[in-house]
Amino acid sequence: MVLDRINFLKDEINKHNYKYYVEDNPSISDFDYDMLFKELQSLEEQHPEYKTPDSPTQRVGSISERFFPQQHKYRLYSLDNTYNYEDLESWYKKITDEYGSDVELVCELKIDGLAIALTYENGLFTTGLTRGDGITGENITTNLKTVKAIPLKLFEDVSVEVRGEIYMPKTSFIKLNEENTAKGEKTFANPRNAAAGSIRQLDSTITAKRDLSIWTYSSTFENLKNPPETHYESLMYLKKLGFKVNPNIRLCKNVKEAIAYCQEWENKRSELNYATDGVVIKVNKIAIQEDMGYTARAPKWATAFKFPPEEATTTVLDIELGVGKTGAITPVAKLEPVLLAGSTVSRASLHNFDEVWRLDVRIGDTVVIKKAAEIIPKVIRVVDDGLHKRRPRYGLPAKCPDPECGAPLEFREGEVCLYCTNPDCPAQMRAKIEFWASSDAMDIDFVGPAIIEQMFKKKLISSPADLYKLTTDDLMKLDLVKEKSATNLYTAIQGSKHRPLKRFLTALCIKNVGKETSELLANEFGTLDRLREATPKELEAISGLGAKMAQETYDFFHNPKNIEMLDTLKALGVEPAAQELPKSDILKGKTFVLTGTLPHMSRDEASEKIKMFGGKTGSSVTRNTSYVLAGANPGSKLDKAQKLGIIILTEDEFLEMIKEQE
Ligand code: NAD
Repeated sequence: MVLDRINFLKDEINKHNYKYYVEDNPSISDFDYDMLFKELQSLEEQHPEYKTPDSPTQRVGSISERFFPQQHKYRLYSLDNTYNYEDLESWYKKITDEYGSDVELVCELKIDGLAIALTYENGLFTTGLTRGDGITGENITTNLKTVKAIPLKLFEDVSVEVRGEIYMPKTSFIKLNEENTAKGEKTFANPRNAAAGSIRQLDSTITAKRDLSIWTYSSTFENLKNPPETHYESLMYLKKLGFKVNPNIRLCKNVKEAIAYCQEWENKRSELNYATDGVVIKVNKIAIQEDMGYTARAPKWATAFKFPPEEATTTVLDIELGVGKTGAITPVAKLEPVLLAGSTVSRASLHNFDEVWRLDVRIGDTVVIKKAAEIIPKVIRVVDDGLHKRRPRYGLPAKCPDPECGAPLEFREGEVCLYCTNPDCPAQMRAKIEFWASSDAMDIDFVGPAIIEQMFKKKLISSPADLYKLTTDDLMKLDLVKEKSATNLYTAIQGSKHRPLKRFLTALCIKNVGKETSELLANEFGTLDRLREATPKELEAISGLGAKMAQETYDFFHNPKNIEMLDTLKALGVEPAAQELPKSDILKGKTFVLTGTLPHMSRDEASEKIKMFGGKTGSSVTRNTSYVLAGANPGSKLDKAQKLGIIILTEDEFLEMIKEQE
């Protein structure tokens, strides 16, 4: 049980690390990430036997293969962090117990950007690396040279390695997102991702156009006659050499003063034009720092106090109603635009009417919003401004908000949502088509909500099947779509006709049948025709499906409207690729762990192959691992496999193993 949870947490954290560090595109909030991380840390502390060297708690960051990798001269660490003051007090107590009661601390704002290491030889900037995994960084020297705040020549001819945080000012981040939205390009979730995405561009002319800056916060000097004895002195020296050092650093006599600094900045940080996610507290005396040393991923002489997730106050301008793909009516608060945790927020979902009444949100109210659990903003409470009670309570809408529908609404037994009763509701169908084209379902490039809205308005489509009837001439009727884009759209739509069966089933929006159940069904029946013929008994027999879902699936495939829709899709050539059923069980009972980059297969492809031949994949190397499939730049999993004497395979050797069976 515990091991399952540990493995689950490791996989989750590794997945989020990749999105955050390599793709600069996180899908959960930092707070949620930190909670997963802390849970893993505490489970590993309780069960040290399950702690492995490749655990994310033992490592720092991650490295992408897009850049030239280069070994760091001095290792770069992360920081231990906490969200509460008691932890700070006990951290300080341990230090004073050892080094006496007068240990000074330096407080610095924790800049929410991207860590980099800059090398200067005899006063000249030579190399700039990202933190990467702490041991190896990505060489981004050319890009860093475009950042004006990084001096190319210092005021003294010293040789030094300086660390700092690259950041994008909040105002520039908002402007960049606005420009990207206007151009239809990708927007960034927050200033940190915008800074990381900009500095890690393959084309440095793009970096040069982005407004980036730096705050430096640490240094290692070589051959300096009188190196600084305290951290505070070293920061002052960096300033003298020409580096940007944050003006809000403070030397504190003890942890009490450090906590006062944290409290002060928790409130004041919104006034800054750069994002900070906490305060870094460091022991001032370098001799003590050296004596205390490091854990596997962080210095013992420093810690970070992280600010709680940010909140903002704004006004509810309206409560709008959306219609989802199942017909569920979702109330959404339209807000006076406000900056929250680095991005401008103008809408917040209220989920359902129970939530509207629980919060008692009324149009015109002042509300507090926060991005605590998700990246998506939430209304968390109403502020009583004296007028709240005088505003009318938000009542239940009587009919579907879509002007072309207007059908009555209903609550269904056992559900909190309110539904539109019209199965042909245009808004519902539009949401279904949006989902059909989305990356979770048929994954049709370029066909997003805005294009679908236009197709609808111009009466080009009224169902997913209609997408496949569109010609390039039809597509050129859309605003701003010229011949080339029309061809791209056409090719993308037609190219989705043979998506794997599991995707097609997800796209159908069968009640209660999501991605996982679709995969179960696809694995069981292999083809759509087989599934359409399945009896309720056969469906019920699938483990993990349950009687209710089995009945709903059966009903879906026997509803005359759905039969017509499936036949139409088939006639248009939309025929999902049959689910590949296991080819053999030659790998039955064998567990594979993947590490590094394989020459010809992605990890997903390799895992898929392992499954096809009856094997399993695991996330960490243990005595039960049968093989480690290793590619270029393998992680510590390879070392562990060698230590445990586990067979290590190259891609060729693996393919050889399954060759006879293919
Ligand atoms: P961190 O950001 O919590 O702290 C370490 C870093 O702080 C240092 O490497 C340095 O870059 C930076 N820093 C900023 N100001 C500093 C200063 N004045 N002095 C010293 N260092 C300073 O740790 P991390 O290892 O970079 O990243 C882990 C954190 O990143 C997590 O706690 C989480 O909040 C976030 N994260 C989020 C996701 C996600 O999916 N949302 C995924 C991975 C990581």
